[in-house]
Formats: sequence, C-alpha cells, structure tokens
Amino acid sequence: MNWFEASKDLIAISIAALAVVLSLITVVLQRRQQQRAAYREIYSTLMSDELHRGRWMISRISGPEHIPKDKLDYRLVYRTLGVFDNLAMYERQGVVPRKWVLDVWHHPLHDMYKGASVIRRDAEKDGAVSPWPQLWTLFDQAAAYRSSLACCQPAGGGRGSRVRRLAARAPGGRRTSQPDGRAAQR
Ligand SMILES: [Zn+2]
Repeated sequence: MNWFEASKDLIAISIAALAVVLSLITVVLQRRQQQRAAYREIYSTLMSDELHRGRWMISRISGPEHIPKDKLDYRLVYRTLGVFDNLAMYERQGVVPRKWVLDVWHHPLHDMYKGASVIRRDAEKDGAVSPWPQLWTLFDQAAAYRSSLACCQPAGGGRGSRVRRLAARAPGGRRTSQPDGRAAQR
C-alpha cells in the first residue's frame, strides 16, 4: 500500500511536470507563429511598389542636392524611413524574428545608409530631433552582419554567389545588392 501511495504521488508529479513542459512548448510555438505573422505583415508593406520606389530614391542620395524636390517624392522618402524605423523597433522588441530581418534586409539597409544620413542631417537642420531613432541601430547591425547566404560569400565562392553578385549590379555598375534567394526585390 505504501509503495502504491508513493508511486501515485510520483505519477501525479510527473503529469504535472509534463503539463508545465507542454504549456511552455505551446507558448514558444505561439510566439514564433506571432513573430512570423508580424513579419509577413511588415514585409508586404516593405515590398509594396511605393516603398520600393522610396528605397531606391534613398539609395541614390549621396548629397543634400539629391534630396527630392517634388513634394510627393519627399514625403515618400520620409515614409520609407518611417516604415524601416518601425521594422527596427519590431526587431528590437522581438516582435519579428531578428535573423529574418537581417538576412533579408542587410544589403538594402546598407544601400540606404548614406542617403538616410544625408536626409537626417537635412532634417536636423530644420530642427527635427534625431529622426528615426531606432533605425540607426538597425543600420549598425546590418553593417556588421554577415549572412550564411550566397550574398555574403567571398567572390568566387561558388557559381551561385557569382551569378547573384552579377545580378545585383545596377546598369550603372553600382552595387545594389540582393539580400537573399527571394532576390528580385528590385
Ligand atoms: Zn549578404
């Protein structure tokens, strides 16, 4: 009887422990699912025609004289940086998977850095206080990031990477880079 009583307790404890483990696994899986859904949502905004255009405009800015004069284009540049600032906040808060953000966007972020810095200086001249504060951290992370994908492999590291690198060059010869196999983000 004593042995049976002791086993009963042990079984009860094991079942309780299993229940805790299962709920922890469920929480982790749910969180991952939520992160993926959040990423998909912001990804479709970032991949819209409008944001694409905004990103290209920013990448072409290398001095204040290149900042768009057209009001709509000017607003689009600001909106694009605003959406990327939001992506940076999501990444920082763990709302979206960090690795996905960096794998997909490290080269586009690198391409935008110079133009974004020019726009920031211009905005600060007009009294704006450090615009897009979280984006600068993401720019730094992207600059230091090396993915295991073909885009970051040394030249000649395989036919795939060569082809990808060639495809990533704009007609003017300027590197415009593709983040990964999803490529064709241009
Ligand atoms: Zn890369």
